[in-house]
Amino acid sequence: MPIATVNPATGETLKTFDELTPDGIERRVAAADAAFREYRRTTFADRARLLDRAAGLLEADQDDIARTMTTEMGKPLTAARAEAAKCVKAMRWYAANAERLLADERPPDDDVRDAGAAHARVHYRPLGPVLAVMPWNFPLWQVVRFAAPALMAGNVGLLKHASNVPRTALYLEDLFRRAGYPEGCFQTLLVGSRAVEGILRDDRVAAATLTGSEPAGRSVAAIAGDEIKKTVLELGGSDPYVVMPSADVERAAEVAVTARAQNNGQSCIAAKRFIVHTDVFDAFTERFTAGMAALTVGDPMDESTDVGPLASEAGRDGLRELVDDAVRQGATVLCGGGRPGNLPRGMEHGWFYEPTVLSGITPGMRIHREETFGPVATLYRVADLDEAVKVANDTYFGLSSNVWTRDDEDVRRFVRDLEAGGVFVNGMTASHPALPFGGVKRSGYGRELSGHGIKEFCNATTVWQA
Ligand code: NDP
Repeated sequence: MPIATVNPATGETLKTFDELTPDGIERRVAAADAAFREYRRTTFADRARLLDRAAGLLEADQDDIARTMTTEMGKPLTAARAEAAKCVKAMRWYAANAERLLADERPPDDDVRDAGAAHARVHYRPLGPVLAVMPWNFPLWQVVRFAAPALMAGNVGLLKHASNVPRTALYLEDLFRRAGYPEGCFQTLLVGSRAVEGILRDDRVAAATLTGSEPAGRSVAAIAGDEIKKTVLELGGSDPYVVMPSADVERAAEVAVTARAQNNGQSCIAAKRFIVHTDVFDAFTERFTAGMAALTVGDPMDESTDVGPLASEAGRDGLRELVDDAVRQGATVLCGGGRPGNLPRGMEHGWFYEPTVLSGITPGMRIHREETFGPVATLYRVADLDEAVKVANDTYFGLSSNVWTRDDEDVRRFVRDLEAGGVFVNGMTASHPALPFGGVKRSGYGRELSGHGIKEFCNATTVWQA
């Protein structure tokens, strides 16, 4: 894939970028290595000052960078602004909390003291340059979610961003430079995915984090495994959204629309499979379908747009194939199911897809197994909680899950039995800096955010001291 800014609303290529040469990559990896040797010795206060400064700059740039993101990947401008604001918050949160999260830990146990190590402790040290392979769907947030904790821990970052968001990628490098980070602390590598292996195998690169598809994750994990390097993987999801009879059905249906259509449906933690108890199935389906059908699809720069184009033509075609396959096998289209009509002038060739709701899903359909990365919801009718759990877990993925119920016993069962990295009760999945984020099964491993996230790229060093 060429490195280029292509407007998904029109299909127009706005700018192409040259890939870094092997020499260019070498210079940057060397700079990261040199920067790490110095930067790792800075104090938390030094690092917090830098990160707070970056947060302040981003806050001031919010409108501009939001326009860049919308131009490059099509998310509604209002959502792009909210993404930038969320990044500012997370940066400030880590600036304020990293020292506490990485404070030395003393074993609570008298045994250690009795063994002669009265001052035994665990001390968290950074690992080194971390390669971040990142996707386009939240082109700012996915990077900041990695960079804020990594930089606060004393690591340095090498960003290989998705090839369709080069302007956002370059903005991020510039942001950290303007904030005063020493040269080499955070660099963008404008390279395609073929260059990742060489960078990852370089002895100076300590670890990697990847957010993206399963094949990309598998490749990076295999190479890192071969090199015995730590990885964190945040891959796809097909999150269940379960509605039980005791739920506030109206609210569940209203939130379901946002949970599915946010970010033009291209979120790993979007609710994708709607599993509804038979007692409330009709009431939920009617409200949810009406909500999805009422979304405004159109120019993502327009403040009133709810759903913009998909980020790539291949993504739009892939989604269409999943829907067409399901329909061929008997699924019922309750709304949407194709290209929207009435697109704004000049956007007739953009990569739009209608908000779509399908029912009558059977296990043989591709859509039952594969991630729908776009505004397409599948509905399942279930008889009881056991069946709800069974359907919810019938997926290779395990990122997050949503349950709507006012019954405490239901909650206890779902928290015990749902195979996912999160269970959100009476609300939709969202990330917060103070809570861990990540999945199980083929959604990946490791955690981002919170104390769990910052420790992923640390050397938990045992210090034995008499
Ligand atoms: P990819 O996984 O291909 O892209 C994500 C990042 O990984 C990009 O930087 C990409 O680089 C890079 N990459 C791709 N292949 C490799 C590889 N073999 N080795 C190293 N790096 C690689 O996602 P797509 O954009 O193709 O989207 C495909 C599907 O992935 C979506 O439909 C969705 O299901 C899932 N996805 C999930 C995301 C999430 O948030 N978990 C985010 C994005 C996608 P380059 O752009 O240069 O190819």
